[in-house]
Amino acid sequence: MSKELRTYVEVAKRIVMFTGAGISTGSGVPDFRSPTGIWQKMKPIQFQDFLASEDVRIESWRRKFDLDMGMDDAIPNKGHLVIAELIRSGAATCVITQNIDNLHQDSGIESDCVIELHGNTSFARCLDCASRFELTEIREQFEACHRSLAPRCSNCNGFVKTATISFGQSMPDAEMLLAEKASLDCDLFIAIGSSLKVFPAAGFPILAKRNGAKLIIINREPTELDSIADLVLNEDISSTLAVLTDY
Ligand code: ZN
Repeated sequence: MSKELRTYVEVAKRIVMFTGAGISTGSGVPDFRSPTGIWQKMKPIQFQDFLASEDVRIESWRRKFDLDMGMDDAIPNKGHLVIAELIRSGAATCVITQNIDNLHQDSGIESDCVIELHGNTSFARCLDCASRFELTEIREQFEACHRSLAPRCSNCNGFVKTATISFGQSMPDAEMLLAEKASLDCDLFIAIGSSLKVFPAAGFPILAKRNGAKLIIINREPTELDSIADLVLNEDISSTLAVLTDY
């Protein structure tokens, strides 16, 4: 089966990679949505509640700084590195990701080639003027008032939030357009470590397939789109991708 994967990659001209939580569990990042994931134990904060309540904003930042979600110390694993090699060599054009852990950028991929559908939790942004803030800076501000006030933007005083797309927050327009364009431009779409259940993200492999691209799915468990894929590999992600290691 792995040989088949290699053959598909060798004949493809423009590959798009797509990743979900399954690629990062090998780096110790938990899968938030799985049956044992964080959202089973702790209710996610809704975007509207973040906007409406200072207490909720404080709680959101307290969670970010106090709860070890395994993300801040995580480093890329073999799966991330193989994807980085495919992009560096020009075989793949970009990676569309549902992950917020920054591990694709950490693996050496230029930010331009990482399309983040759900944002990024390794830094923060002002919700009004979009200024970027590093978490160390935000943490200092939060601790300086003994956590009595949620951090605010130093430029416009707007609310500052991690640069993720929260529950209840609309999908990012620019990223959605880039992902759509990449999906329509590719001739091979490889979906890795995603159950392909969460829309609109799961719409991209469908779009690519309908437009004539081949679709490969690599995931430990069966996914919602296995029936339309050209090749399904229900195997360990890192060892499966390792056959592509010399790209
Ligand atoms: Zn601002």
